[in-house]
Amino acid sequence: MDWFEENQRTLPWRSETDPYKIWISEIILQQTRVNQGWNYYLRFIEQFTDVKTLAESPLKEVLKVWQGLGYYSRARNLHTAANQIMCNHQGVFPKNYLDIRKLKGIGDYTAAAISSLAFQLPYPAVDGNVIRVMTRIFGIYENISQSLTVKNITQLCEKMIDTENPGNFNQALMEFGAIHCTPKKPKCDDCPFGTYCVAFTREHQTILPLKLLKTKIKYRYFHYFIFLKENKTLIEQRVENDIWKNLYQFPLIETEKPIESQDIAPLHWGKFTSVFLKEIKHKLTHQHLTIRFYVVNEYFSEVTNNWFSVSVDDLENYPFPVVIGKIVHDILG
Ligand code: SF4
Repeated sequence: MDWFEENQRTLPWRSETDPYKIWISEIILQQTRVNQGWNYYLRFIEQFTDVKTLAESPLKEVLKVWQGLGYYSRARNLHTAANQIMCNHQGVFPKNYLDIRKLKGIGDYTAAAISSLAFQLPYPAVDGNVIRVMTRIFGIYENISQSLTVKNITQLCEKMIDTENPGNFNQALMEFGAIHCTPKKPKCDDCPFGTYCVAFTREHQTILPLKLLKTKIKYRYFHYFIFLKENKTLIEQRVENDIWKNLYQFPLIETEKPIESQDIAPLHWGKFTSVFLKEIKHKLTHQHLTIRFYVVNEYFSEVTNNWFSVSVDDLENYPFPVVIGKIVHDILG
């Protein structure tokens, strides 16, 4: 907070205590840079001076003032929320966190920002800047794309927030992230946290905060055919750069969609009769596998790919993925 006193930028909404104006500035700054948002903010509060004026103005006018800022749902939500305040709070901006949080378009961060800046309520406003500062100083190596991480950081801030002046505390932390502990080239050599900061002492400024994108789950459908004849079967080694590389498996057909009929194999390999054995669902980090096993009680002579014949008793000498290994175990009895 001492740092903030000395280094804060002068902004049109700085030191503002009117919840209405704080609200407008926070919504504008959600997806807009300070430089671009500045004039929009001034125009907006000039035209819509208070909640009542905003609520009574046609939405078209509100959108007109918003034109060029993008993410127009923000303007529509402001208009709706102004009407909520008129209907539910007699036109007076609600003074407690839960009522503020209920307004259209207001999430945890914005509710905390308004509560602390306008009403000095001790709710930490955790935005991207705060997350960056906290993960670096405290060495929080958790994925910030996960809501649990944000929740943990919020709880940590709750312990530290200056209950006498939560508005300044929040602004200081956000401003520090915005202009000092920046994503690239943070000013570590001249930082009040220098000796405490985990990221600095470990030189992990480029690693923290950890942001791992949610990976899409890939669904795969494996059909394994266990050829069994005179105590022999066919296996192959997986060679592709894929799961289970270099491990062994039974002859496989992979399909993009679930197929329940065992007639699939003859389509690929010629005519024979197979009997469905069992289906196993197997979850890997980014892949969900549905694995079906079929037994074919005849020897398949047209050996293709890398298939080779082994005696059933010999199977235990080959490394199989766990799910296939269990089937092998079943076969061996
Ligand atoms: S030492 Fe560097 S990484 Fe740590 S808080 Fe300061 S500016 Fe951020």
